[in-house]
Amino acid sequence: MIDLYRVLPEEMDILVTGLGQPRYRAEQLLQALYHESPKKMSDLHQVPSSMRDALVKAGYTIGSENEVHRVVSEDGHTTKILLKFDEKTLIETVLMQYSPSQDKTHPRSTVCVSTQVGCPMGCVFCATGQMGFEKNLKAEEIVSQVLHFAHILSQRGEHITNLVFMGMGEPLANYDETIRAVRLLTHPRAFGLGQRSITISTVGIIPGIDHLADEDLQVKLAISLHAPNDELRKKLVPTAGPHSVEDLIAAAKRYFKKTGRRVTFEYALIDGINDSTKVASELAYILKGNGAHVNLIPMNPTAGGFQRPDRKRVLAFQQVLRNGDVNCTVRVEKGAEISAACGQLRTDIMKKIR
Ligand code: SAH
Ligand code: SF4
Repeated sequence: MIDLYRVLPEEMDILVTGLGQPRYRAEQLLQALYHESPKKMSDLHQVPSSMRDALVKAGYTIGSENEVHRVVSEDGHTTKILLKFDEKTLIETVLMQYSPSQDKTHPRSTVCVSTQVGCPMGCVFCATGQMGFEKNLKAEEIVSQVLHFAHILSQRGEHITNLVFMGMGEPLANYDETIRAVRLLTHPRAFGLGQRSITISTVGIIPGIDHLADEDLQVKLAISLHAPNDELRKKLVPTAGPHSVEDLIAAAKRYFKKTGRRVTFEYALIDGINDSTKVASELAYILKGNGAHVNLIPMNPTAGGFQRPDRKRVLAFQQVLRNGDVNCTVRVEKGAEISAACGQLRTDIMKKIR
C-alpha cells in the first residue's frame, strides 16, 4: 500500500493521468489532502468514486494517525500530542506558541516534529537517545504530525508559522524520508509552508549536511555542537565518532558558502560538564570570525542524572561568547513541566498505553 500523503505533486500528476483521469484531478486530490483533513479514501468526495476505486485498486491508501494522548502546559502555550500510526509507531509531536508581536494578530506557532522512533545517536543527556533506536519514520508519518496540528489550529482560526525538526530522532539519519516530507510540506501545490520557516537540527552527520546544501531548499540548519573539543564532545555524543568538532565547523562553513544561510550551533548547557567560562572561551576561540550564531539550551533534566546550570552560570557563559564577538542567545524553554521540552520526548507513556 502506498500512502497518498507521500506522493509529491509531480508524482500525483503522473499517477492521475496514468489512471486515465484528467490532470486537474491531481489538483483536487492535493487540495483535499492538505486542506480538508480526510481520514480515509471515502472522505475524498472531491473526486468521483470511480477514481477512488481506481486508486485503491492501484494500491493507494490514506493512512491516518490517531491521537492517543494530549497534554497542555499550564500557560496553554505548549501542547504535546502522542500520535499512533500503528502498533510499532507511537510518536510525540509538540506545538509551541508564542504571543503575537504588536503588529501581528496571530501567535507564532511552531511545530516540533519527530523523524524517528527513538534515536541511534545515544546522546547521554537526551531522553530519546537513551531509549535506543526503534525505526525510521516514513515521510507520510512526518507530514501527518504537521497536518494534525494544522487541523487543530485551523479550528481556532490559527495556522502553523514555523516548523522545527527537533523532536525524537536524527533527521539526517533518515535523510530521504525527511527531505521528501520537507518537499511535501513546502510545495505550493501541497501544504505550502515557506521553506525559510523550517529548521532542520542535526547532531552533525557531515555527509548529510553536504547533501542538504546541494538540495534546492531554503531551509535553515542547526548543528548540535555541545562542546568545543572532541574529548568533551565524545563524552556527550558517543556516536560523534569520525566527525570532529573541526570537521563540523568546516561543514557549517561549506553550507553557508553554498546556500548563503548561516548555520546555528546549538549547545545544551549541562551543569559542571560543559558550562564553565573556560569552556566558553575555547568555544569563542574556535567560532570567532565565522559569523556563527550559538543558541544555548540550558539542559532539561532527564533520567541521565545531568542537571541544568543555574541562571548565573548560563549568563556568564553567554557573556564570554559575546565578549569574544560570537553572536549568542539563550533559548526560551517551553513546556518543561509537561516533559515536552527538548530531549524530554520520552516513551514511558507509550509503554503504559501499549
Ligand atoms: N537529533 C537532532 C534533532 C533532535 S534533538 C539533534 O540532536 O540536533 C533537538 C535538540 O534538543 C538538540 O539540539 C539536542 O541536543 C537538544 N537536546 C536533547 N536533549 C536535551 C536536553 N535534555 N535538554 C536540552 N536540550 C536537549
Ligand atoms: Fe538523537 Fe538528537 Fe537526542 Fe542526540 S540529541 S540522541 S541526536 S535526538
